[in-house]
Amino acid sequence: KNAQGVSAFIVEKDFPGFSRGKKFEKMGWRGSPTGELIFEDCRVPAENLLGIENKGATVLMSGLNTERVLLAAFSLGLARGAYECALNYAKERIQFGKPIATFQMIQAKLADMAMEIELSRLITYRGAYLADQNKHREMNLTASYAKLYTSEVAMRVTTEAVQILGGYGYMKEFPVERMMRDAKLQTIGGGTSEVQRIIIAREILSRS
Ligand SMILES: Cc1cc2nc3c(=O)[nH]c(=O)nc-3n(C[C@H](O)[C@H](O)[C@H](O)COP(=O)(O)OP(=O)(O)OC[C@H]3O[C@@H](n4cnc5c(N)ncnc54)[C@H](O)[C@@H]3O)c2cc1C
Repeated sequence: KNAQGVSAFIVEKDFPGFSRGKKFEKMGWRGSPTGELIFEDCRVPAENLLGIENKGATVLMSGLNTERVLLAAFSLGLARGAYECALNYAKERIQFGKPIATFQMIQAKLADMAMEIELSRLITYRGAYLADQNKHREMNLTASYAKLYTSEVAMRVTTEAVQILGGYGYMKEFPVERMMRDAKLQTIGGGTSEVQRIIIAREILSRS
């Protein structure tokens, strides 16, 4: 069967043949449990069909662009949280008799972080605006730009935040190591960075 032969259903948790398997141990995102869902000769009544028969892929895809913009907002929040923590730390931490924020190499990191967060904010708001206006065609490109860019910014910014905090960055006493672990999922969930690049390339090639 290709994707068009698949149908979407609502499966309720007490349906025969449905069970939950083990909960996975994850690198990050521990506040959001992830586990196995097991379907073994699961019986689902026809009335639980979601959308049109054999068009399950369409149901699945219909929410993806909006999901990508939401994920961009997650990434933006992670990046901003890590940046603010690093900025405050850099102003307080004294090394060689001065706050580390006076060192140009730390300043360059903070400048790049601030710039990338600002650009992430703009592309996320642009995606949210298009979603709000139901401009689905335009969203194909913008949602992938937003998801790809902000997730990679979240990874870079959280990693640099750990670096700015030095040894403390690696400790659980400060939130930046968790943010770095959480940020990694952002480049995987909702379509990996590689898949976003495929979508963007396909879209720009089809328009040119
Ligand atoms: C905790 C967790 C929660 C998640 N939640 C969601 C969610 O809510 N919504 C959601 O949409 N996704 C979510 N995901 C992501 C989803 O479950 C998959 O992990 C993701 O879509 C990648 O699929 P895969 O793991 O099968 O990797 P694979 O498809 O096996 O990919 C492995 C690697 O190969 C690359 N790759 C695959 N195909 C190509 C290609 N054609 N060209 C180039 N490179 C390629 C991938 O980018 C990746 O780097 C979540 C993942 C995790 C771990």
